[in-house]
Amino acid sequence: AKAAGRNAMRFFDPGMQAVVTARSELEDDLREALKAQQFVLHYQPQVDGEGRITGAEALLRWQHPQRGLVPPAEFIPLAEETGLILPIGDWVLRTACARLAQWRARPDTAALTLAVNVSARQFRHPGFVYQVVSALGASGADPHRLKLELTESLLLDDIEGTVVKMTALKAAGVSFSLDDFGTGYSSLSYLKRLPLDQLKIDRSFVRDVLTDPNDAAIARTIVALGQSLGLTVIAEGVETEEQRAFLAAHNCHAYQGYLFGRPEPGGD
Ligand code: C2E
Ligand code: CA
Ligand code: CA
Ligand code: CA
Repeated sequence: AKAAGRNAMRFFDPGMQAVVTARSELEDDLREALKAQQFVLHYQPQVDGEGRITGAEALLRWQHPQRGLVPPAEFIPLAEETGLILPIGDWVLRTACARLAQWRARPDTAALTLAVNVSARQFRHPGFVYQVVSALGASGADPHRLKLELTESLLLDDIEGTVVKMTALKAAGVSFSLDDFGTGYSSLSYLKRLPLDQLKIDRSFVRDVLTDPNDAAIARTIVALGQSLGLTVIAEGVETEEQRAFLAAHNCHAYQGYLFGRPEPGGD
């Protein structure tokens, strides 16, 4: 009882209290954000080997009335913890599909794909497949233009369940990209079991690809692995022409990064 008392004391120390208060304020704000329509998607172009735009990745932003534009790293972890990622993820899917439907209506944009990030908790939810299919159906978007970005840790958590969900969505026309590839603790054997379409080379390997031989080796290996598994490979975080040229010389033919365009609202 004494120990518990001490812990309670520590819990109520003023510094700790400030942290707890800030957190619960953020949580309250996050709950309000959906109702108040404070979320926006920004779109960052993805390009092919000739520099032509083939599509975009949708990146979530929170337009907070006091804090300004809040980047996802500052609220997605809390959204995951609290379960708010479920309605937020649903909003992202519906908004992305609505954008795809607009693109579909114009000949010059009809072929563009849109990549949407999926969080672990969202993917594991039993209603995930229905959530995606229903967002597609409600919008009139072409399922073949929707690409879902998943991460390794999310996939490996329950590989049987993962395969079932991915297979169902693939049957509906949706494709899959493996985000942040190489940053987790994965074994490679799972790769051949999953119905993936694309590997995404993480920005952390692209950044120093010209100066760090280890990063260069990893980037080259990911491209070669993708090729041998019949997957496309896209590099993210490409900021310079030299990085693009190096990756192109090693047979990577799809890119995303500030060199081609920053994430921007609108998506026109
Ligand atoms: P990510 O999926 O790895 O997204 C790539 C991040 O790199 C984005 O940060 C993007 O703005 C940034 N980036 C793109 N090109 C460059 C570049 O050339 N240089 C540099 N330095 N950075 C670049 P952002 O938008 O802050 O997103 C961070 C993370 O938040 C994303 O990482 C993703 O994991 C998560 N996220 C974003 N939107 C969503 C969403 O709708 N749902 C979920 N569940 N997660 C999201
Ligand atoms: Ca991503
Ligand atoms: Ca990444
Ligand atoms: Ca990521």
